Amino acid sequence: MAQNTKDFYTIPEENLEKLEADIAKLNKRALKLGVDPVEVKILDTERKPAKDPRNPNRNLPNAFDLYYHVEVIGQPIKLGDYQFIGTLERMNVEDGQTINLTKSVPGEELPVELRDISPERCDHCHLDRNRKKSFVLRNNADTSEYKVVGSNCLRDFTGHDAEYATKLAEYMFRVGQVAGGYEGNLSGYVKYDLTEFMEAVAAIVRLHKWVGRGKAKETGETSTAIRAWSYIERSDEYADYKKNIVTQEDKDRAAKVLEWGENNLVSITDPKELSEYRWNLRTIASSGFVDIRTIGYAASLFPVAEKEMGFYDKMKQNQVRTAKSEFVGTLQEREEFKDVEVVFIKEYFNTYKFNGKEEDVKTTYVRMIYNDQDSLLWKCTTELPIDLKTGETPFVKGNKIDIKGTVKKHEVTKYGEKQTVLQRVALLQELEQTAPAKKTKKTAVKATGGIDLS
Ligand SMILES: [Zn+2]
Repeated sequence: MAQNTKDFYTIPEENLEKLEADIAKLNKRALKLGVDPVEVKILDTERKPAKDPRNPNRNLPNAFDLYYHVEVIGQPIKLGDYQFIGTLERMNVEDGQTINLTKSVPGEELPVELRDISPERCDHCHLDRNRKKSFVLRNNADTSEYKVVGSNCLRDFTGHDAEYATKLAEYMFRVGQVAGGYEGNLSGYVKYDLTEFMEAVAAIVRLHKWVGRGKAKETGETSTAIRAWSYIERSDEYADYKKNIVTQEDKDRAAKVLEWGENNLVSITDPKELSEYRWNLRTIASSGFVDIRTIGYAASLFPVAEKEMGFYDKMKQNQVRTAKSEFVGTLQEREEFKDVEVVFIKEYFNTYKFNGKEEDVKTTYVRMIYNDQDSLLWKCTTELPIDLKTGETPFVKGNKIDIKGTVKKHEVTKYGEKQTVLQRVALLQELEQTAPAKKTKKTAVKATGGIDLS
């Protein structure tokens, strides 16, 4: 069983399409010659540091060029019972000597001992002649047996004439030349890792809200894609910038978007199942990188994915709730709030001076929702109350709890939300256990401007 001929090339991403187009053209020649076409098979990709276009001695620290390792596979070219390996051509050089110019078909190499054989040798007629060109063949059955045959004897030896064999050889050499010619970096497009780019997009969206291309054109704002690109491109300051701007939340958000892309785009293999736009998104999501040509598409994966994941629905729901929020309880009264949902917990540290000494003071912001719509805020400067049964605090995001607290303030936040600020909040269950049976219990009602109607 004869092996396919193989050759390996490292092709810059920009050149891959051209290589494939050229090979397709060459394969028309293969058709005419009656041999099987060659195939370009992508094996894997490699990222190499990109050179700074302004200073080729320097790499751009975060950018890379993408290379494809490809295999150019040709069916072995058979001439009769032999496989065509290459040619030997005699060339006259200055001092009257001749040298052999050797060419081998892709994936094959002339055995070393044949490289400088005498031009007289023909394994068919064994006649001493000064030949200009010889063909090197390998026995299909006994693959260690090589034959060198002169042009005139090729037809007798293999059934194919030298003209045909020369055309075949040219075709195969050309394949090698084309593939080799597209090696090396001819690119002008530096690339960045898609994950890094999406993390930048997440940070930019958080800081500046989403600005798509259309809106950017309309309003003159900078689009999210361009902002993220110029951010990631600042290679020198990038490390610092990255440390200071991209938060863990941004990274998590980007990871979710990319995961959505994996599950909803990359996993789909039939182009008919996706719109052209989404198919382009898919291409970018599967490539794992962006360059200046694709950043608009890549960035738009963000709103597309988040919309589908219901992110904006949640935001909208929250806006609706915020608008409905009302003040609750009576100012300065201590009241009970049952079935309150904890929606936000965060610790802040402030430095204060006490008797000339600086001290860090922790304040835990606890936001809660009462009646499914009314906003409560407690700035807790002690430790959060503990459920004595479990030894842990039930003040955890998502938990529903019953509390008692003093209504300190009714205020409108900068988002226009009516918010009731509580003080000295305690867990109702703990209070009931430690100080049972108080005569009356108030349950908070809608605020009544300080007049208790209960
Ligand atoms: Zn001969």
